[in-house]
Amino acid sequence: MLKSIAIMTSGGDSPGMNAAARAVARTALYEGVKVWGINDGYHGLLEEDMRELESKDVGDIIQRGGTFLGTARCKRWQTPEGRRQGHENLIKRGIEGLCVIGGDGSLRGAQLLSEEYGFPIVGLPGTIDNDVWGMDYTIGCDTAANTIIDAINKLRDTASAHRRVIVLEVMGRGSGWLALVSGISGGAEYIIVPEEEFNIEEITKDLSRAYEHGKRYILIVVAEGAASGQEICDYIAKHTDIETRVSVLGHIQRGGSPTVIDRVRASQLGEQAALALISGLSGVVFGYSKGHVVSVNLYDAVNNKKKLDPDYLHLAKVLF
Ligand code: ADP
Repeated sequence: MLKSIAIMTSGGDSPGMNAAARAVARTALYEGVKVWGINDGYHGLLEEDMRELESKDVGDIIQRGGTFLGTARCKRWQTPEGRRQGHENLIKRGIEGLCVIGGDGSLRGAQLLSEEYGFPIVGLPGTIDNDVWGMDYTIGCDTAANTIIDAINKLRDTASAHRRVIVLEVMGRGSGWLALVSGISGGAEYIIVPEEEFNIEEITKDLSRAYEHGKRYILIVVAEGAASGQEICDYIAKHTDIETRVSVLGHIQRGGSPTVIDRVRASQLGEQAALALISGLSGVVFGYSKGHVVSVNLYDAVNNKKKLDPDYLHLAKVLF
């Protein structure tokens, strides 16, 4: 059984990271294990910016978005020398295991530390993109999707008032999950995702026909990785007489108080991660799949690309 572990949050922040870190810390403390909090991800590990946590240090954070530990992107971690230094900084404090809460990139960085030094690692998927292989949920995706829905509801009001086409650009460089679920639940007419080909000419002809048949307004949700919302908007405006507007949601999607789903799941995943790490498990990521907690091999999680759920893609077409 491990006696001392550390937690960090890394990469893009997501609502629920706090709930996850809190659960890891409190579970470890409950089990009589020391917990270190590393500030600002791998950057803080290299700068030796870390402290031992007490239970009260993770109080009053479950309701907050962002991460009380801070997060960062760290180029040096991508070098073998950076990881050697990071490993040394853990060892000299007697830290025997590390829980990394972050997205695809952060988990990849963690996997390398585990592979190169045999250092015990457990990962938690903290990303609004819901793009970690082997699971259908990542911490923060529910809050982000709800933020988008809130925006869609408001955009519908103004789109309807003016008979406009509204193009909403949402986050998702490599993954269209956010666009797809928010498009389905927001009743969008078109959903454009990086995983699927799209034809702007056809969409424009199609929506023009719909307007001629009396359609009052149209909502297009586009993932940033598929196309620029502005370019889609410009194309439609240039090729039709329909008033077209673009809205780019940006970083609003990352913030906000986490939803019940994100809080409960982050707490449960944090508990499982801490128990696994303490008991000597390594090289796994905990996530949710089909309503249950699952542990996925860390190497597999970072070396496979998650696909969009074909049932959701089909549903989007049926409901259009
Ligand atoms: P996210 O974790 O949200 O996907 P990034 O992809 O920016 O965010 O990754 C966060 C950090 O994880 C990077 O700044 C870097 O320190 C580390 N990282 C990402 N990819 C790698 C890699 N291939 N090798 C080592 N470290 C990596």
